[in-house]
Amino acid sequence: MQYRRMPKNGDRLSILGFGCMRLPSKDGKIDEASAIRQIRGAVDQGVNYLDTAWPYHAGESEPLLGKALRDGYRSRIKLATKLPTWMIKSRADMDRFLAAQLKKLETDRIDYYLLHALDGASWDAVERLGVLDFLAQAQRDGRIVNAGFSFHGLAGDFRRIVDAGPWVFCQIQYNYLDQAYQAGTAGLEYAAARGLGVIVMEPLRGGNLGLAKPPPAVEALWSEARVRRTPAEWALRWVWNRPEVTVVLSGMNDDAHIRENLALADTAQAGALTPDELALADRAGQTYRALMKVGCTGCGYCMPCPAHVTIPICFEEYNRLHLFGDVEAGKFRYALRMSGELVDGRPGFASQCVRCGACAAKCPQQIPIPDALAQIAAELEDADLPRRLARARQIFKAEA
Ligand code: SF4
Ligand code: SF4
Repeated sequence: MQYRRMPKNGDRLSILGFGCMRLPSKDGKIDEASAIRQIRGAVDQGVNYLDTAWPYHAGESEPLLGKALRDGYRSRIKLATKLPTWMIKSRADMDRFLAAQLKKLETDRIDYYLLHALDGASWDAVERLGVLDFLAQAQRDGRIVNAGFSFHGLAGDFRRIVDAGPWVFCQIQYNYLDQAYQAGTAGLEYAAARGLGVIVMEPLRGGNLGLAKPPPAVEALWSEARVRRTPAEWALRWVWNRPEVTVVLSGMNDDAHIRENLALADTAQAGALTPDELALADRAGQTYRALMKVGCTGCGYCMPCPAHVTIPICFEEYNRLHLFGDVEAGKFRYALRMSGELVDGRPGFASQCVRCGACAAKCPQQIPIPDALAQIAAELEDADLPRRLARARQIFKAEA
């Protein structure tokens, strides 16, 4: 295992972090014995950064991790979890959730505590409710050690949040397909230039970039490379190639994948890929983008919409579904994200478009936005939408 330093505090963190959002499951529940074995096995192999969050596995990831860290494992690792910002309605809620998390995780401190899934609106909301005071107080009394945030919004909001808080670190979605999406490469460089450590999530885009059988056009590209690598190896090495990246999180649940990731983390180094290899990864990213149904880059220039359609996220979820083909998972993600439950409770479904035309003229990609939204509404808002919404609420609205 190789380690990189967290710039502001000097912590020596394993370049591979264990993400506890996709633990092995049986009959719809975490397979506890397997999950604990895998987590402890990874720690024994040198992983020392473990990441969980309030809603993972419908609230069961944190207690599982608490159990996995018994028998001396807690003192060997840095523990990260996250404040579910969409659940916060008052300053007191913040203390309440943190207290519940400490109990679930069987610990007296969180080493790396993140505000979960921020975008511009959710940051503004928790900032108004006093989250900076909360973080300062929790650091003073030792309940948390380092403050950070995870991000799923527009690039401009990322910079604004980086500049506004006492952050030691941030967590961003980053992979060769998303170089110009959300925080992207520009955000990675911006955060690093301000001394923040960067934890990378979604290095395989929810596992999709690691599929053994990628689309034929992508497979043909990888076969051009002088060094043969699996798609997962390409994706992970591409992220570790950036020196600004501190830890890459992988949501692991398969013994063979864990072994592969651990082996890669022994050797993957910053700056190791050749210009030809980086160009190949760029072309793979472009090929994926060309396969997308809507050529949206997520720039956000079309926003805000007077009917409150969250246009870029509609397109992101639509593209994800068509690129990777898991229709039910795609429809669930669409229902969850458009419901507004993770932000301000205001829905942003494609079907809310009233065709006012305000957006299309602002789109640099010249996407016929209202027509594309109508297509998305027809495909993704079927009769099962209420059932998916109910399930999303059940998972993400569990009270402290
Ligand atoms: S055309 Fe539809 S999506 Fe575009 S701004 Fe108007 S209501 Fe919003
Ligand atoms: S302006 Fe166009 S490319 Fe940018 S987010 Fe809106 S639809 Fe996507």
